[in-house]
Amino acid sequence: MPEFDTVLHPDWVIPIAPRRQVLTAFSVGLKAGQIAAIAPREEARLFTANEHITLTDCALMPGLINLHCHAAMSLLRGFADDLPLMTWLQRYIWPAEQQFVSPEFIRDGTELALADLLLGGTTTLVDQYFFPEVTATALDRAGMRALLTFPVIDLKTAWARDAEECINRGLALRDQYRDHDRIEVGFGPHSTYMLSEQSLSKVAMLAEELDAPVQIHLHETRDEVLNSVERVGARPVDFLEQRGLLGPRTQCVHMTALGEQDMDTLTTFGAHVVHCPRSNLKLGSGMCPVQRLLEREINVALGTDGAASNNRLNMLGELQLASLIGKTEHSDSKAVDAWTVLEMATINGARALGQDAMLGTVEVGKAADLIALDLSGVHHMPRHDLASSLVYASDGTEVTWSWVAGQAVVRNRQLQTLDSSDLTNRASHWAEKLAAYKQTLEH
Ligand SMILES: [Zn+2]
Repeated sequence: MPEFDTVLHPDWVIPIAPRRQVLTAFSVGLKAGQIAAIAPREEARLFTANEHITLTDCALMPGLINLHCHAAMSLLRGFADDLPLMTWLQRYIWPAEQQFVSPEFIRDGTELALADLLLGGTTTLVDQYFFPEVTATALDRAGMRALLTFPVIDLKTAWARDAEECINRGLALRDQYRDHDRIEVGFGPHSTYMLSEQSLSKVAMLAEELDAPVQIHLHETRDEVLNSVERVGARPVDFLEQRGLLGPRTQCVHMTALGEQDMDTLTTFGAHVVHCPRSNLKLGSGMCPVQRLLEREINVALGTDGAASNNRLNMLGELQLASLIGKTEHSDSKAVDAWTVLEMATINGARALGQDAMLGTVEVGKAADLIALDLSGVHHMPRHDLASSLVYASDGTEVTWSWVAGQAVVRNRQLQTLDSSDLTNRASHWAEKLAAYKQTLEH
């Protein structure tokens, strides 16, 4: 019986804990889905294992945690661009969803997204979209780790009649995945403007009773904040707090147009912020004050949002943008530095999920969710500083291997659980239908 299932021999390990360190010539042993040893390479070469994998010129680090996505919207990548949020939603996205969202659309869109995510180093995904039961099946087959926050909105959709049916269907899914070791189910109330006060309060009550995570779009734009004040007499963050929905289980996505008072409220209630820099920039939504949030010890994680508003699901790209616009927003080149964004995409994501004991760092006893990044490209030379290379010089194609719970889901840049040519064919089939429909919207 070998001591380990797999032993990985990268040139460097970026463990994230201890903070801001790079281990040179260390190896990592995996067993039963966990990290079982971290040892000097010479010692680890002698370990008995089913497989020893040499990762020359590679850095090994925790898998990236993408805290906000609508995976199936990959099929709407490029469907409508260069529009402000509400025009984009009301004129194009919502009508297209009304027309096309079905279990088949969700399956094909989700699998396309998962391929993009896995090849880009995401090993844990938080998703929020219709037919989460279909998304769950796709994630399970792909071997990824996920939190599915089932959508709750008052309007009738292809998935549910109203908020109550959303909740009933979502809770049935939560029951179904209760004992699953990689997939969890929580609440995804869309926003404070898509749900009635009663529906928000019901979500708050149930989430507390079940100790379940909640993810909500909040303060996405300045208009959302102004409209909220006009409609209910409170800023969205205060309104959420008044409904009992702001707390350490809550992941607040976007968080632009924040004042000092809003940040005080977030600190008091211990809610998490999910920053989606590229989506905010593309939709012209506004800036999330990441540096000021971090200075107040508010946990800030990172997400891509859906491919319809990004248009990639490339977490390395989000790391780079988060750092660059963090400096611009704060008018300080020291703000949101390379190590900070590496933490946002790993351990901070794990904290937002309440899973920091299991995910987010390379430490013995944690889940073997790892990625290897090839830094041999000329654009990485010379490698003065690995954190700088990963954040400022990567183009998103560096990921060569990904493991989730010890299983290799990407080997040498090859997807192991999804077939990319089949996914491409299915995406082309949907593209034809969507193009014909778009013409009817514009005439
Ligand atoms: Zn979103």
